[in-house]
Amino acid sequence: MRALALAALALAAPAWAAPTYVLQRAAGPIAVDGRLDEPTWAKAAPLSPLRDLSGGPTPYAADIRLAYDDDCLYVAARLPAETLRATQTQRDSVIYRDDDFEVFIDPFARGRDYLELEINQLGTVWDLFLTAPYRDPACLALHDWDIKGLRTAVTLQGTLNDGAGDDQGWCVEIAWPWASITGHSNHPRAGKPPAPGHEMRMNFSRVDHPAPGDERNTVWAPTRQATIHAPEHWGRVRLSANPVGTPEPFPPTVGLWVHGDNPALTPQTLRDWKAAGVTTLIIGGTDANLAKVAQWAKDAGLRAVAWLWALNRPDDPAALAHPDWHAVSLEGKSTFRPEERPFVPYYQFLCPTHPEVRAHLAAKARALAALPQVDAIQLDYIRLPDVVLPKALWPTYGLDMSTLLPPYDFCYCPRCKAAFGKEPDPADPAWADFRLAQVAAVANAMADAARAAGKPCGAAVFPTPRLAAKMVYQDWARFRLDFALPMDYASFYAEGDAWVIDRAREARQAVGGAFPILPGLHLPDFYGRPEALRALIQDLLKENPEGFCLFSDAELRPEFLNALP
Ligand SMILES: [Zn+2]
Repeated sequence: MRALALAALALAAPAWAAPTYVLQRAAGPIAVDGRLDEPTWAKAAPLSPLRDLSGGPTPYAADIRLAYDDDCLYVAARLPAETLRATQTQRDSVIYRDDDFEVFIDPFARGRDYLELEINQLGTVWDLFLTAPYRDPACLALHDWDIKGLRTAVTLQGTLNDGAGDDQGWCVEIAWPWASITGHSNHPRAGKPPAPGHEMRMNFSRVDHPAPGDERNTVWAPTRQATIHAPEHWGRVRLSANPVGTPEPFPPTVGLWVHGDNPALTPQTLRDWKAAGVTTLIIGGTDANLAKVAQWAKDAGLRAVAWLWALNRPDDPAALAHPDWHAVSLEGKSTFRPEERPFVPYYQFLCPTHPEVRAHLAAKARALAALPQVDAIQLDYIRLPDVVLPKALWPTYGLDMSTLLPPYDFCYCPRCKAAFGKEPDPADPAWADFRLAQVAAVANAMADAARAAGKPCGAAVFPTPRLAAKMVYQDWARFRLDFALPMDYASFYAEGDAWVIDRAREARQAVGGAFPILPGLHLPDFYGRPEALRALIQDLLKENPEGFCLFSDAELRPEFLNALP
């Protein structure tokens, strides 16, 4: 079973941090009449809730379900709507001028050669084939292309164009022949459904016009940019041979933080990790080692995430050339001077407000994301120094951090004070909020830079946005991420395994599904008790099926590999 799941994951395209769906076989024939009354539609699971393009919440909902047989991919959508209105009656007219429903398929998860179907409440269809996203100068959008054998039906719960405002919604049913989805390729299964385990990238959208000129785009997989035409961010749809209604979780991401500078690493080490169930490496180290190990990861069928230090930049030559980039404490000490740094000499934190710092970090994110071996990037130290350390670490530094200690509270640099507009009062919630917003702006600038290079961006963060805000000025619920790796290192907090589950649940609620969460587990917490690690992983996946991450390769003992799902 594991070998099958891993083979499927190896096919996944770069944007793995996307919503997922297991596409199962229809339970019987489907009459395409828009009534959605077949047993298949009662049994098929709904897609996860829609979001706006940025990943934020939306008032527009949809119940979308999928199924397939040897001939067709089937789509059923129930779309609540207060007002039904449609005017477009010509095939291949610009359907999104009306309220509509849209389906996108990238059959081979290649980010090109993808299909689009739009349909309005009159049942008018616009189908097109795109050779590449619009941003690509080589993009050809073939509007004359038609889905051969397409069958669609729409039913209305209300009256079209009567303006009475008492409508309830509409339903769409689609039978889309595989001959049109895969038949354009040289793939061995061209014209047929892909084999079980294959992953397609798909997205679904509803466009609504609550007022003239006000166009709302609501999607299944947020692209975190102004367009849905970014197939690298679409959802992952994995074919299954099982009938609809079979319980079948999507294979979780099993991540491992890896120190790329470790000279003992070999390609065989990575192949062994993969055989044990690891799917994804988060690789740190020098740029050269990172690129080398990322290539080994690709060769081993693992996803490669580049691990990038954000606001803490020890020995960064650009930072060392700019004393004014550095963060300043309430005491007035700057992290530019090694002897004035808090806790440890490598705490060379930069000021989150400085525009040159942001530009420098965004350029770093863009450069790493542009590496062809890299599937995504992950920010670390996207925060200020610890104004409150995890409690179990207080004795290490001989500190009681139950009250604010001025040497550890940053950034009181002249630029931050000026931007805040008045002399900051350390106890003022507005001053804390200012710094939370500055840190979030850095995170978002770096994430946007990575996405501009076509790669998703995540971050290693403190366990929950609430704790992170209080401890390190990191309210990561404000970050526009593609995934988060909260460091749920229980021993740092003098806590046990149950605490990890509780924090994962709290983080999930705080983010509200805007991006997946992959809780980070601290392997030394499980020395001598690999069974506890196995049990915790199983419990965690019930709460948080997207996956988890292990810290780190240096602490990875052979018995832990046996605990992986
Ligand atoms: Zn500052």
